[in-house]
Amino acid sequence: MKRFASILAAVALILISHIAFGQRPNVYILATGGTIAGTGASSTGTAYSAGQVAIQTLIDAVPQIQEIAQVRGEQVVNIGSQDMSDEVWLRLAERINELVQDPDIDGIVVTHGTDTMEETALFLDLTVNTPKPIVLTGAMRPSTALSADGPLNLFNAVVVAASPYSRDRGVLVAMNAQVHAASQVVKMHTTSVESFVSPNTGPAGTILNGNVTYYSAQARTPLHFDITGLQTLPKVGIIYSHAGISSDIATAMLSSGYQGIIHAGVGNGNIHKNIFPVLKKARAQGILVVRSSRVPTGPTTLENEVDDEAYQFVASQWLNPQKSRVLLMLALTRTHDWQQIQEYFNSISQYTPAGK
Ligand code: GLU
Repeated sequence: MKRFASILAAVALILISHIAFGQRPNVYILATGGTIAGTGASSTGTAYSAGQVAIQTLIDAVPQIQEIAQVRGEQVVNIGSQDMSDEVWLRLAERINELVQDPDIDGIVVTHGTDTMEETALFLDLTVNTPKPIVLTGAMRPSTALSADGPLNLFNAVVVAASPYSRDRGVLVAMNAQVHAASQVVKMHTTSVESFVSPNTGPAGTILNGNVTYYSAQARTPLHFDITGLQTLPKVGIIYSHAGISSDIATAMLSSGYQGIIHAGVGNGNIHKNIFPVLKKARAQGILVVRSSRVPTGPTTLENEVDDEAYQFVASQWLNPQKSRVLLMLALTRTHDWQQIQEYFNSISQYTPAGK
């Protein structure tokens, strides 16, 4: 109740100051590269190089942004997000944690390649602790394409970051006129501008004519990991299962310094009989094992066909394999207790075991 009242007071204060003094909110853009900063040789082809255009060029290309907010920005890296790394994640999160302390910054936009945007969004959701809006955006078409989607996506992301209604919702992704929560959003199409969806819940809201409308209340995740001073993250890898999988691909992980394995299983996180003994051995070596699923929707539930309690496996609940990896890496900075880690997965999925 107290929290609700203070959120209301903050929103009212921002609205009053902006209406009364005609002040535009301050939005800070952190650029990391991707297609939104990409250029191609032809305006109609799909071939291009990601991460070519610098932040100021992106901002200058969409002068309408200045009507919504006062915008400044800086370049963090300029890469295709297939090359995203723990080092860049840590640097980005540290920088955002610094920027949100500045009372003159109302919201932050991160421009990013679309390939790993959902992973970065969750990483920031779990490591940046602020009610201020943090919004990721990108583009499916390079800046030189006919009907490039980057300019409108950037404009819309600034709209979302500047809105007091975006506060306290955790990290958001604004793509193709929709807003998505970091824990829900996935890239679902390799080339379409309609690529980003929240397949289990639907989007959190929509952006039209310079306004964002949210469909419902959405709370920030209660999970937060302090990454201050961290230079590296625990090594966690993913095994993608399939019919006829052989054990060697998994066995290699037992002697390569992995602290955690995400098993992208079939169906409800099921494990092939060739892989099962390797995962049991991993647990015996103290390596954490999380069962997730290669199926794009639905949860991987506890105690279904696999006796998780007996094998000390963790079920990923609603997180897909790549997002499970993000949570497990952060969890391992704090604990190796599999039951505690199961609680983290339960908590991010808002799952309470029966009777608890
Ligand atoms: N592969 C590049 C990246 O993720 C370009 C794809 C994109 O941004 O849509 O950065």
